[in-house]
Amino acid sequence: MERTLSIIKPDGVSKRLIGEVIKRFEKNDLRIVAMKMVHLSKKEAEGFYAVHSERPFFDSLTNFMSSGPIVVMVLEGKGAIKKNRELMGATNYKEAKPGTIRHEFASSIEQNIVHGSDSPETASTEIAYFLNALEIFDY
Ligand code: GDP
Repeated sequence: MERTLSIIKPDGVSKRLIGEVIKRFEKNDLRIVAMKMVHLSKKEAEGFYAVHSERPFFDSLTNFMSSGPIVVMVLEGKGAIKKNRELMGATNYKEAKPGTIRHEFASSIEQNIVHGSDSPETASTEIAYFLNALEIFDY
């Protein structure tokens, strides 16, 4: 069993895609073991995306991520990190495979509906950024 952090970004929430995204996770054996809605401050968004702080799009990305509420989830399942990334599709929606969340719903390389951890190390750091042990459930 593996855990990963998923975020439905502000564009996904405002486009009313929360149910659509969750349905895809549950249909693909990704168990939602934690979930909450939060509205990040600019500083909190910068903290989350600190690895990208030198990128030219950092300011725009963190403005976007703090522009409205997001839904944060911990997904659990066999190969959860890879499976979630497959369901999401490529970062650039123009390169994402048909049927993936980003191919279906993203509107730009930045506004791409979902975030998913990309390795076991980032998954544990990212989960700890948002959730404590009492907010993650076994069932
Ligand atoms: P991810 O792991 O697929 O989300 O992709 P990255 O970790 O490379 O990038 C993090 C996020 O930054 C992406 O999901 C996009 O929202 C945004 N992003 C990535 N590349 C670009 C870019 O070239 N321009 C802009 N404006 N945003 C980008």
